[in-house]
Parts: sequence; C-alpha cells; structure tokens
Amino acid sequence: MAEKINVRGVYFDNVTMDEAAAMLIERARAGVQTSLFTPNSEIVQMCIDNPEMYDIIGKGDVIIPDGIGVVKAAKILKTPLKERVAGFDTGKRIIAASKDEGLKIFFLGGKPGIAEQAAEKMQEEYPGSIFVGTNDGYFKKEGAESDAVIAKVNESGADVLFVCLGAPTQEKWINENRDKMPGVKLFLALGGSLDGYSGNVKRAPQFFIKHNLEWFYRLACQPSRIGRMMKLPKFYFGTWIYKMKNKK
Ligand code: UDP
Repeated sequence: MAEKINVRGVYFDNVTMDEAAAMLIERARAGVQTSLFTPNSEIVQMCIDNPEMYDIIGKGDVIIPDGIGVVKAAKILKTPLKERVAGFDTGKRIIAASKDEGLKIFFLGGKPGIAEQAAEKMQEEYPGSIFVGTNDGYFKKEGAESDAVIAKVNESGADVLFVCLGAPTQEKWINENRDKMPGVKLFLALGGSLDGYSGNVKRAPQFFIKHNLEWFYRLACQPSRIGRMMKLPKFYFGTWIYKMKNKK
C-alpha cells in the first residue's frame, strides 16, 4: 500500500498516475476487491461541512487526488502529494489494460444511452478492450431497482465496474453494495467520466490542464457549476486558516 497523506481529514494515497494504475491492476490480478475514490477539493470541503461524509469517502481502498486544489492544500500543509491524479485518466489506463489483463468492463452511470456510447468510443480507442455491459445511472439507489442493476452486473461477469453517478451517491452505493458483487475486483467511482468518454462533454484542452486551469474551463463551459465551485475558494482559504491555527 502507498503512503497516506492527510488533507483536511481525507487520507489520500501518495501516488503518481502510473503508480495508481499499476496498484489497481496489481490488486485486480491478485483478486483483491478494491474501490477507487477520486475526491477533489469540492468533495473534501463537503466532508468538512458535513463530517458524516468522512465515513463515506474514507471507505475507499485507494483514494487519489482528482483536482489541483487538493494537491495545493497538501503543499500548504507541508505534506506534499506527488501529483494530481485525475480519475478520468486513471479510468482510461484501466481500459487500456483490459485487453492484456483480460479485465472485463461494465459501465454504470450517466443519462440513458451515454454508457453505451462511451463503451463504443472506448472500444474504438482501445481495440481489444472487453466491454461486457452498460446501464444508465438513473435508477433508485436502493431496493428492487438497485438489486436489478446488481444482478445485471453479476450476470455480465464484469471484473471492473465503472460507477459514474456523481459524488457522494456513487461512493455510498459502492460501500453499500460491493459485497453483493463478489466477482467485481475494481469499483471505480468516476463522476462524470462517462460523459467525457462518450464524447458528449469535452475535456479541457491540454493548455488548461497543463496550467492547472481545468476548473476554469469547466466553469466557462457550464456556468451553472458556479454554486458548487464556490466550495473551491472556501477550501483554499480555509486550508490557510487551518494551517495558521494548527501551527506547531
Ligand atoms: N448521474 C447518474 N445518476 C444520478 C445522478 C447523476 O448517473 O442519479 C450522472 C450524471 O449523468 C453525470 C454524473 O453522474 O454523468 C455526475 O457528473 P458530475 O460532473 O456532476 O460529477 P462529478 O464528477 O463532479 O462528481
């Protein structure tokens, strides 16, 4: 297991993207059931505001910093993380490994039709990758509808389940149901990634990613995100205040 770094109460694995992908593939090979959670600063701030969220997010077996805000906060706290590890790209690494590792993939989440489209696009991008099923994300997250989704996943024989229902719904659903899917080795909680894989939402151009401005690009494309994004400055300045208060 990788070293864990505490950022405002969430314990992140201190890994590079390569190390994260290798660790997940290694665990899948060994048949160790593993959940991957990918909190950004918005989610960490959600934990700070609602402490019961720490339990939900903290149950991830592997937790990577999906956002530059978390990496910056770790630096402010003088416990630096190696790099930002975007969930979107980590998911692609696993898809890329599907062929050689014989990992069967199931896409769960997004509006009707998105998961199928995402699987088609990924099949083209990664020839030989193995997709065994898809389901949209608009079902009741408990009771009969949820059980039907679980049965579908089990029947598909999937080794890797992408769970893209948005946070914290996806993390909660994984925590509550992973035991009912013993064949699944990797549960990847990847938010809006299927929208990206399907081509329906464009990833920021490299320039924005390189200059740590992906958040700005997303805001410019979807101004309705402003409410959610106000958590970012709250998190950033809150971390400075936290640091000053806890100075040794
Ligand atoms: N979604 C879903 N089921 C739901 C609610 C949301 O499948 O009940 C999907 C939604 O269609 C979108 C994703 O979850 O594809 C959430 O995307 P967003 O970018 O808001 O999530 P984030 O990555 O920021 O958590």
